[in-house]
Amino acid sequence: MSNVETKFRPVSQETKPGLDELVPSRYAMQVGDIEVMIISDGVLTPPAESMATNADPAVRGEWLDERFLSKDAFDWALNAVVVRSGSQTLLIDSGIGEEYPDFPRAGQFVQRLEAAGVDLGSVTDVVLTHMHFDHVGGLLAEGVKSRTRPDLRVHVCASETDFWKSPDFSQTAMPPALAALARKASLDFMSVYGDNIRTFKDLAEVAPGVSVTRTGGHTPGHSVVRVQSGNDRLMFGGDAIFPVSFDHPEWHNGFEHDPVEATRVRLRLMRELADTGSWLISTHMPFPSVGRVAAVGEKYRWVPTWWDY
Ligand SMILES: [Zn+2]
Repeated sequence: MSNVETKFRPVSQETKPGLDELVPSRYAMQVGDIEVMIISDGVLTPPAESMATNADPAVRGEWLDERFLSKDAFDWALNAVVVRSGSQTLLIDSGIGEEYPDFPRAGQFVQRLEAAGVDLGSVTDVVLTHMHFDHVGGLLAEGVKSRTRPDLRVHVCASETDFWKSPDFSQTAMPPALAALARKASLDFMSVYGDNIRTFKDLAEVAPGVSVTRTGGHTPGHSVVRVQSGNDRLMFGGDAIFPVSFDHPEWHNGFEHDPVEATRVRLRLMRELADTGSWLISTHMPFPSVGRVAAVGEKYRWVPTWWDY
């Protein structure tokens, strides 16, 4: 046998993975009566310093070294979620889409959604944690809009849609080209899905046991989604909590539009998660990105779920 035949290839190296690909890019769990499925959209690779823009480079370097992580690019997982509650199928965020050649290891969200058996036409509601391109891009991919239901509801915070009409990047550490992409993706989204958008101010009940609440911080309209059924609870935290946040909640992420407020938000959410024992799904935690948050003195610890599929 030749090397080619015997070598395993990660899905990310396939140019067009078929729907029968065997590498799991989905993880299903139950929250009481509500079904939740996490779909991976692969991995982004931003510069490692963007994970901790206010950290001493030596301290940041040590943190990365201790975890055998590269000091150049940070492997930043990208996850979105499907929730089924009552007669509704909700999509929470949508991955990055295909417009971004700088991120070749992500961008096949819709294919992965379909490989997981979720028909786009069955989605009744989309809930956006915020409008950065790695959260709205999947729904902007070629041919996607025409396959969604005409009566699709897209729930997003009013402060978010307002913000992107005239966004402020002064406190981010995003390169100008990326900021321009972010602006374009949010405006494109509002133009393509304008008739479907249902804004909320601070809180909306979007399905039985499923609510979305504005937190602000990361972006002015950043929101988290809480799922509760019986005694089971889960929070989809969007971009409030990152892989570095447990050891260093005070580290600013270069994509945060108000990093000081973002730090306050993540501390508040981690306290809540530790107190309630709620599951957390976090967009950029490694797949399947499901775990709990334990309080250890003044710090927090990520306790990943034990794989069960
Ligand atoms: Zn993000």
